[in-house]
Amino acid sequence: MSESPSPGITRSGFVAVLGAPNVGKSTLVNRLVGAKVSIVSPKVQTTRTRITGIAVRGATQIVFVDLPGVFAPRRRLDRAMVDAAWRGAADADVVLLVIDATRGLDDDSERIIAGLVERKLEAVLVINKIDQVKRTALLGLAADLNARATFAATFMISALTGDGTAELMQYLESRMPEGPWLYPEDQLTDLPERLLAAEITREQIFMQLHQELPYSVAVETEKWEDFADGSVRVDQVIYVQREGQRKIVIGEKGSRIKAIGAAARAELARLLGRKVHLFLHVKVAPDWSEKRAFYRDWGLEYDV
Ligand code: GDP
Ligand code: MG
Repeated sequence: MSESPSPGITRSGFVAVLGAPNVGKSTLVNRLVGAKVSIVSPKVQTTRTRITGIAVRGATQIVFVDLPGVFAPRRRLDRAMVDAAWRGAADADVVLLVIDATRGLDDDSERIIAGLVERKLEAVLVINKIDQVKRTALLGLAADLNARATFAATFMISALTGDGTAELMQYLESRMPEGPWLYPEDQLTDLPERLLAAEITREQIFMQLHQELPYSVAVETEKWEDFADGSVRVDQVIYVQREGQRKIVIGEKGSRIKAIGAAARAELARLLGRKVHLFLHVKVAPDWSEKRAFYRDWGLEYDV
């Protein structure tokens, strides 16, 4: 096994990024990928994971996938999402566990570590946000974490400032197996873009309404219209299960839905590299989370 690629030899692989919400997964992937973000058409068996970026370094292609949040499963959809996240992790060449140094070992992280141990998955520990924490506290946290699970390596980084991220990137490059690139560059198709767009909106809802509205939301991209000037109009429906939830999503005088739309639109425009007009509609559909078709679209298992 040689670490230095000979001419003509390509490497490629998947890096799964695990971690509680807000630990900095997206910030990290954006930094590692740099300006070059491609959205690709995931093959059917990988639609359960969201490809957030592809980094190309020389002859190496690294595909980053964000796994659906790993949290305590309560209802069917929660279980399906958790199941999908773990299957994605098992399929990846490298699993990164991102921990927020300012939060340390919270319940979400404990749960993820327990899941790694249970499945005998060896992750790479990434302690993020070191710009916010004293060195001595960091060492304590690293020791605590390493006492709970065996990690292939430990990196301390700031995804925000870029501190330590070059070393992490170098490590990832060296861990990608030899093989043809997994995705052609700049491949764009519209079906996965729809799913991706829906996921971006769902993520915003989750982030902005974290406490008030846990998981009882689905987003569907209903219409996708490309215009000659390069812009795109996207119409999405946000399904909630009760009228009270509809009010929460809409917010005081529409302020919440406006903020969700603005953030989702900005993220989608950045990923697509084009102007996006995003229209969100909120509908009450008590039983959406029991519909099989919804799971199929997302590549999720219904009966888990
Ligand atoms: P995700 O939910 O795990 O994808 O987290 P995000 O990437 O969306 O980041 C959540 C918040 O943490 C955002 O406000 C980021 O700007 C912030 N953040 C991410 N990485 C760092 C870091 O290294 N240092 C600091 N201070 N903030 C960070
Ligand atoms: Mg994110």
